[in-house]
Amino acid sequence: MRQFQHYIDGAFCDGPAVFPSVDPSNGEPWALMPEAREADVDRAVMAAHRALHAGPWATMTATQRGKLLYRLADLVMQNARALAELETRDTGKIIRETSAQIAYVADYYRYYAGLADKIEGAHLPIDKPDMEVWLRREPVGVVAMIVPWNSQLFLSAVKLGPALAAGCTVVLKASEDGPAPLLEFARLVQEAGFPPGVVNILTGFGASCGSILARHPKVAHVAFTGGPEAARHIVRGSAENLATTSLELGGKSPFIVFADADLESAANAQVAGIFAAAGQSCTAGSRLVVDRRVKEEFLAMLKAKAEAIRIGNPADMATEVGPLATARQIAHVGALIGRAVAAGARVVCGGTALDRPGFYHAPTILDCDGVSSPSMVEEFFGPVLSAVSFETEAEALQIANDTAFGLASGVFTSNLSRAHRMIRGIHAGVVWVNTYRAVSPIAPFGGMGLSGQGREGGLAAALDYTRTKTVWLRT
Ligand code: NAD
Repeated sequence: MRQFQHYIDGAFCDGPAVFPSVDPSNGEPWALMPEAREADVDRAVMAAHRALHAGPWATMTATQRGKLLYRLADLVMQNARALAELETRDTGKIIRETSAQIAYVADYYRYYAGLADKIEGAHLPIDKPDMEVWLRREPVGVVAMIVPWNSQLFLSAVKLGPALAAGCTVVLKASEDGPAPLLEFARLVQEAGFPPGVVNILTGFGASCGSILARHPKVAHVAFTGGPEAARHIVRGSAENLATTSLELGGKSPFIVFADADLESAANAQVAGIFAAAGQSCTAGSRLVVDRRVKEEFLAMLKAKAEAIRIGNPADMATEVGPLATARQIAHVGALIGRAVAAGARVVCGGTALDRPGFYHAPTILDCDGVSSPSMVEEFFGPVLSAVSFETEAEALQIANDTAFGLASGVFTSNLSRAHRMIRGIHAGVVWVNTYRAVSPIAPFGGMGLSGQGREGGLAAALDYTRTKTVWLRT
């Protein structure tokens, strides 16, 4: 079985124990992962702390940091195929998606490479003739990054890019589920020439390795992507040292379709919006809020498209939906569908796991009209769409906002004024109008409410990894 290692202080090393990683396409263990425990976490954080204050990174210019990030982006593209294949093997995410996402990963590193020497301080026009006062922008310090199993390369790129551009050093904890691509990515970090200790990558379990990392006294900031439950633990742990946090959490994103929309385009976007990555995406458009006048027509279109999806081996380029990442996810999705149906939801299509080895689940649509269904409230993180209808624009907005989450949203309409009213009214960090799930390093991304706080992407994300120092100089 293939064996992976941690990357700590510029060297690859084993942990005190190993655990198996399971191939979701057949449910069989295929690799052994090193498990980081307290001593490994401490070693990584202390290496990051040393690299921050002494050694080549501490004196490197912003332009030099940018060059390293450009080199990393090039290496990501040169190794795109191997990284995509590893991510597919370890998480079940289909090769079409992992391959396409690698290009975005490189884009984010390039964007922040270019930003590294544009993070500026300021001169202040203070009202004293014999004083010069200015603000220096300095790296916030050692950053702990904790990511979930879906899209680990991407979710770490949106953190590593701005943090390294700002001059921080990093301990990145890959998820215990599917850590292979990130542990392999560490080789590219080394090859790019980042000095030892600047980026440390390890894996281990959340309650042990993750929580020890989040509350380490030398960690200044915790950048977390994952679920609200782990986020609460992390915030409590980091509060011990008053470390700051940025949180990218889950969602229950509304996908709102008005009768005046281009229904064919909306249906394609809805199918991709919920069934891409087998629904294991924080931005999954998991609540369809559809105009009652077109509901039956629209559901029929979705059903036809969902039933035509090619489900299969994630390593096959023809596959459109692969397995879920873990047996735990299959059980969770099945249980929540069961509760929804018990509450009165009607299964339009799918509804069950597939009877074959691996963690496959049929693309599922639930009609929840007139029903108080838990599927409209709780995150599946699986290929399940829950649909309700509305009569008025006000009702559409009220249903869309009837959630504790606030990550993404989609509005499909040909009425420009209505689109603007919806944009103003929707409680979410992102509103996509007549499109869904577009991303770019230039555009900030993040949530409200239970979907988290802080933004990733854009210039502001790099500034978030800095703090200002005010300098007073008597002349
Ligand atoms: P999770 O919260 O269980 O785990 C995420 C990471 O946190 C893992 O590395 C895990 O080991 C670690 N962790 C767990 N408990 C911890 C603790 N007590 N202390 C420190 N670390 C801990 O989430 P998951 O099931 O792996 O991922 C799915 C969740 O992630 C979903 O809710 C999804 O919506 C969310 N997500 C959000 C975004 C976004 O950008 N907003 C993107 C992808 C996924």
